[in-house]
Amino acid sequence: MGFDRLLGNAQLKQSLHRSLNQNHISHFYLISGPRGSGKHTLARLLAAGILCRGSDKPCLSCPACRKVLENIHPDVITIEDPEHKNVSVKIVRDFREDMFIQPNEGSHKIYLLPQDLGVEGQNALLKILEEPPSYGVFLLLTDNPEKLLPTVRSRCTELSLQPLPAELLSSALKSDFPQAQPEDIAAAIRRSGGFYGQAKELLQGGDVLLPQTRQFLQAYAAKDPLQLLQVLVPMEKWKRDQLLTALNQWLELLGEALSCQAGGITPSSLTRNLCGCRSARDLTNAIAQLQTAITYAHSNVSPGTICGFLCWTLR
Ligand SMILES: [Zn+2]
Repeated sequence: MGFDRLLGNAQLKQSLHRSLNQNHISHFYLISGPRGSGKHTLARLLAAGILCRGSDKPCLSCPACRKVLENIHPDVITIEDPEHKNVSVKIVRDFREDMFIQPNEGSHKIYLLPQDLGVEGQNALLKILEEPPSYGVFLLLTDNPEKLLPTVRSRCTELSLQPLPAELLSSALKSDFPQAQPEDIAAAIRRSGGFYGQAKELLQGGDVLLPQTRQFLQAYAAKDPLQLLQVLVPMEKWKRDQLLTALNQWLELLGEALSCQAGGITPSSLTRNLCGCRSARDLTNAIAQLQTAITYAHSNVSPGTICGFLCWTLR
């Protein structure tokens, strides 16, 4: 079936396949899942399935399916507002007007909303949710469905993407990254939370890890207080969010090193050195200090104080 292009999520795919082929189409779908969980893939497949002219929807080979997959179908409209964090109310109002114009060639007119809507935007959307035209379909994509107003959420058919089983993720990554080392694939799987997109980013070596994370791992493995100071002192001027990102990366990697020492898993290239140089006791202690630092950061303690605390406790 066409939905097989989305990895895992068997139950969700089966139930969507069944309802599309029985012509049960909702006006509003909420596709939720963390970054890299396949929200965009699912949205495309669902849009294709709704507009498909084949017998087993989405067939992915009829002209309608092909146009959706190539992103050239005139009745699939993406609503985005690249200049703002949330889609502005003006844009929501514009597409509300557009929606009352009949579809060009399809049975439905589908609006894809990959970006979050603020409260005002959601209120403007509510007016449509109350009385949509028969051909209108909305696909709202979100990392966090909790951000939606309950009045909006309750009107949507919720499609929640789940993490993939490690075996499935591993075989997909091995086939997509034939050059990757097995230990790096294993580490990417652990750190991705089971989401293909995140594992792929890690293996592509994108800017996922902060340079300070690599520096910290080196300094901590080398047991060199001066090197540690050199990493932490410039971070005293960071914003709290930025500092939290770094601390969470450090915590995750120290956790990975500790699991390696417990013998369960093979270290990745990032944590191999750390496993050789630091005892399980050192790692457990450092993890506890990082957890304290993270609690401080959440309680509005200044980055300067937090970095000072870490310089002292991890030296
Ligand atoms: Zn088709």
